[in-house]
Amino acid sequence: MREVAIVGAGVSGLTCGVVFAEEGYRATIFAEETGQRTTSAAAGAIWYPYDAEPADKVIAWSLDTYALLTDLAENPASGVSTIELRCFARAGDIAIPRWAHSLGARPLATNQMAIVVPGAAEDSRVGPNRSFTSGFAIDVPLTDTTTYLDYLANRFTRAGGLINGGIRFEQLEQVNSAYHVILNCSGIGARTLASDAELEPHRGQVAIVPKLDLPYAIVCNDPPLMYAIPRTNDCVFGGTNDISDDREPLAAETAAIVTECARVLGIAPPEQVAARVGLRPFRGSGIRVERARLNDGRTVIHNYGHGGAGFTTSWGCAQEVLQLSNKIAAAG
Ligand SMILES: Cc1cc2nc3c(=O)[nH]c(=O)nc-3n(C[C@H](O)[C@H](O)[C@H](O)COP(=O)(O)OP(=O)(O)OC[C@H]3O[C@@H](n4cnc5c(N)ncnc54)[C@H](O)[C@@H]3O)c2cc1C
Repeated sequence: MREVAIVGAGVSGLTCGVVFAEEGYRATIFAEETGQRTTSAAAGAIWYPYDAEPADKVIAWSLDTYALLTDLAENPASGVSTIELRCFARAGDIAIPRWAHSLGARPLATNQMAIVVPGAAEDSRVGPNRSFTSGFAIDVPLTDTTTYLDYLANRFTRAGGLINGGIRFEQLEQVNSAYHVILNCSGIGARTLASDAELEPHRGQVAIVPKLDLPYAIVCNDPPLMYAIPRTNDCVFGGTNDISDDREPLAAETAAIVTECARVLGIAPPEQVAARVGLRPFRGSGIRVERARLNDGRTVIHNYGHGGAGFTTSWGCAQEVLQLSNKIAAAG
């Protein structure tokens, strides 16, 4: 039986786990952190190609993933749904990206530049504010990380996969020598594990606030980066994107995020707020999906460097990793 060890239990490792286990591989995940402790768990996790390179490959992986996630949205237990995403600019005209046209992107009208939250209590409604000058809308998959990571983990174990958490490697050669093929899905950890000095921690902080009756998600990439993503049981307010390794939430950032989102939404700042931080694994020369050799001669297939698009590219990248592995198996 074909066997692989997967290092990493974020969205990259879990998606590879599902793809490999369902293809008949005996797959085992090893990871220092699992579930809600990973960077993946801190993500807003809406489908959108953001902060990842190179553009042409990212779009191709993203469109493959779009199709798979859209199918998954048929199953509410997966934590995937389809939502309208409204992308705005604070000044000037926003261009609809070329790839978005085939997904039905449409410009927003002037009267859609101010947001009204239908369910907001009358006394908390201070808006609306006309915060934006232009925008477009597109229907995209949204993965609720509070459900989706567990869904992937359960689907993986149902297909025969094993997950071993709490295991930290200093180098990939430490993976049990019984495994001849190793998938490196270690996110920012690949700086050490693949000695990749190109990886940059694009730190992102979000605030989790109580559920809002917002019928669409909002993103504005102009500074200050702002997004509001309504989920089943709460709403993700974002965000930040700075080069830093600090995984502790900063109170001042939480306050700034909540203030700006509340201003845009025209509501009073919510009181119950939790903060999450993750390190987007950004790699200037692009997401690395590539076969290489370890110092001990074993094969490694790298799958890291997804920056701000790890969910958006997850299935496309995992399928390419599988193709690389199948080629190795076929070559004997
Ligand atoms: C605030 C924020 C918002 C985001 N929003 C979106 C979004 O809307 N859409 C989107 O597509 N993406 C988004 N992203 C990006 C996305 O979260 C990442 O691209 C993705 O989580 C990367 O997943 P990963 O599995 O590669 O890495 P991770 O989730 O970081 O997982 C890495 C795994 O490797 C393990 N590991 C690392 N080093 C070692 C080691 N030495 N030994 C053993 N195990 C190790 C870790 O413990 C972990 O299990 C966002 C990110 C942030 C921070």
